[in-house]
Amino acid sequence: MMPLVLKNLAEARRNYLLRRDQLEDLQRRKLLRMLRWAYAYIPLYRSLFRQIGKTPEDFQRASDLRRLPTTTKADLLANYRDGVTARGMRPEVVWSTAGTTGGPFKVEWTSEMDDVRKALSMRRMLNFGFRPWEKVATIWPKKIVWRHAYDASGRRRASTTVYELPFATAFGRPAPTVRVIVSGPPDLTEEVKALNKFGPRFVYSSPGHLQKLAEAAKSGKLAVNLKGIFLTGRDISPTSRKELEGAYGAPTCRSYGATETGSLGGDCTERRGFHLSEDYTYCEVLRGDEPVGPGEVGELVVTTLHNGIMPLVRYRLGDLVELADGGRCGCGSSLTRVSSILGRASDGILTKAGERIPPLRTVVAIEASTSLREFQVRQTCVDSFTVNVPQGGASGPGLEERLSAVLGAQVGTAVRVSLKETADFDLEGKARSILSDA
Ligand SMILES: [Zn+2]
Repeated sequence: MMPLVLKNLAEARRNYLLRRDQLEDLQRRKLLRMLRWAYAYIPLYRSLFRQIGKTPEDFQRASDLRRLPTTTKADLLANYRDGVTARGMRPEVVWSTAGTTGGPFKVEWTSEMDDVRKALSMRRMLNFGFRPWEKVATIWPKKIVWRHAYDASGRRRASTTVYELPFATAFGRPAPTVRVIVSGPPDLTEEVKALNKFGPRFVYSSPGHLQKLAEAAKSGKLAVNLKGIFLTGRDISPTSRKELEGAYGAPTCRSYGATETGSLGGDCTERRGFHLSEDYTYCEVLRGDEPVGPGEVGELVVTTLHNGIMPLVRYRLGDLVELADGGRCGCGSSLTRVSSILGRASDGILTKAGERIPPLRTVVAIEASTSLREFQVRQTCVDSFTVNVPQGGASGPGLEERLSAVLGAQVGTAVRVSLKETADFDLEGKARSILSDA
C-alpha cells in the first residue's frame, strides 16, 4: 500500500496546478465541510454561529465565512482546552507554541493533519527543484529541536539529535539522502566539518543561522556545492536574501507557517512570492475587516480545512503580509501569492502619528543604510530605542547616529538610540528583529 503521505503528496501536486475556478470549488467544499464539523463538535465555533443567529447550513459560498467574527489566540487560550478541541479525539502530534503570550498552550493535530504538513513540505521542495535522490542537510539550532520535541502526551522526547524531515519519514524509515545536523553555536567548526563530509545539494535552516554560517561559506572553509537553500522561520529583507544567495551561490526558497496552522506556503522557482497553501487552509488578507487588493498590506486570517481535533476558524495570525498581483504564476499555479511576510503587526514601531510600521519595513531601512544584518531593535517609548547587536557588531563609525536617523525618519521625530553588544546574541527561528513597548 502506498504510504498515506505519498497519496497526499500526489493530491497536493494536482491541487497546485488547478485552475482558479477549480481551486475555489475545492476550497468551498472543504470549507463548508469543516464549518459543519466545527459547529457540531467545537464549542467556541458553535457559540460564534449562535452569536450571528446562523448555522453552517446557511452558508453556501466561501465568502459567506465573512459573516462570522474573527478569532484570536486570546480566544483559544480563554476556551482552552475543552472549548477548542473535539471531545474524545486523541491528538497524534502536540506542538508547544512559542509562548509569547498567555499560559500553557499546546496545539493538537490529528495524524491526517500531520500527513498534510509532510505532503506540503514535500510539495514545496519538489516545486523548488529538489529531487528525492539529492542530499539535504537540515540544520537546526539545538533549542528549536528541543522545543518541538514533544510526544502526544506532552512529554519531552528523549534525546533528540535527529529531526525527521518529511522525506525521511515518507518511506517509513530514514532515507539515506537526508542528514540532520543539530548545530551548537557559537562554535560552528563541527558543523562545517559535518557539512563538508556530507556534501548536500540543499540545506534547510533558518536565515539567522545561515547568516552566521555564511562567513565560513565565503572564506571557503565550507566547501559545498548547493543547488538550493530552504529558509524557515522569519522572512528576510531582499538585501539579506541577496547576500545569502551570493555567499552560498544558490537560490533561496522561503517558507511560511505557524505552529497553530502548519505549513502555509512557500516560494516557487519563479521566486516572485510565497504561494499560500489555499488548498489546505482558507486564507483571507484583511485590513480591519475588509479584504485588501494586490500590492496592499493586510493581516493574514486563516481557516484550517483539516485537523478536526482543533480547527481554526477565521483565526487572526497577527502577521502582516503583502499581497502580490493575482493571476496564474509562471510556475503554473493559481494559488494566491504574497510577496513578503512583514512580521507581526503589534511588533511594529509606533510613529508619532500613532501608526505602526510593519516590522520588515524597519529591517529593510536599517539594512539599507548600515552594515548591520543581525540586530534586535526595541522601541521603549515613542522616541527612544535600544538596539542589540552581537559582540563586535557595534563598531563602525557613526553607527548610532545612522540608526537614529533611520528610526527617526520612521517615527517622524528625533529619537535617541542606545546601542548594546550582547555576548549571547541569538536571533534564531522566529525570534523577532523588531519589538515595540510603546
Ligand atoms: Zn509560482
